[in-house]
Amino acid sequence: MNHPLQCRCGTIKGYVVRPGMANRAICYCRDCQAFARFLERADTVLDENGGTAIVATLSKQVHFNQGLEALASMSLSDHGMYRWYASCCNTPIGNTPRDFKTPYVGLIGSCLTSSSPSLQESFGPVRMVLNTKYARGHVESTSLGNLMTMLGLMRSVIGARLNGTYKRNPFFDTETGSPIKRPHVLTKAERERVTNAA
Ligand SMILES: [Zn+2]
Ligand SMILES: [Zn+2]
Repeated sequence: MNHPLQCRCGTIKGYVVRPGMANRAICYCRDCQAFARFLERADTVLDENGGTAIVATLSKQVHFNQGLEALASMSLSDHGMYRWYASCCNTPIGNTPRDFKTPYVGLIGSCLTSSSPSLQESFGPVRMVLNTKYARGHVESTSLGNLMTMLGLMRSVIGARLNGTYKRNPFFDTETGSPIKRPHVLTKAERERVTNAA
């Protein structure tokens, strides 16, 4: 069963194709924390240790049915990932590499909240815990599990590149390689405001 995707106010709606490659992760990195602060959603996006729930999947598995006009993107720096969000209600949607030929998206748990099916039912348990050194408090990292999961993910991304399915990507115009929404790259002052706010 496909897993529903939607922003908090319901303007943007879509789904993640199931079954397919998808792994749940929690990322504690400073950039993910800064993104939640940029959206002024740190209270709902971040867990008690500052972690962001992520479902890592292939771009071709993500489809939007409505509300694309509200989709927006930003980047914390001029070489950072594109971070996509719903501008209608500041719900984070996901992170993508700048090059669409690496057809990966880390969807943010906030746009995948659903009681049926639950994240657990659709995507299984959390298999990767990333950048735990930036966690607030002690978080156990499971390095062997991380490594195996990461390898499976890389194999899927490379496979999609080889078989041409990377061209199905809802975040990019794959003719030109441009993101469908021009990302707002934070200025130094804007970046400092979202990274230093504790
Ligand atoms: Zn919305
Ligand atoms: Zn992160």
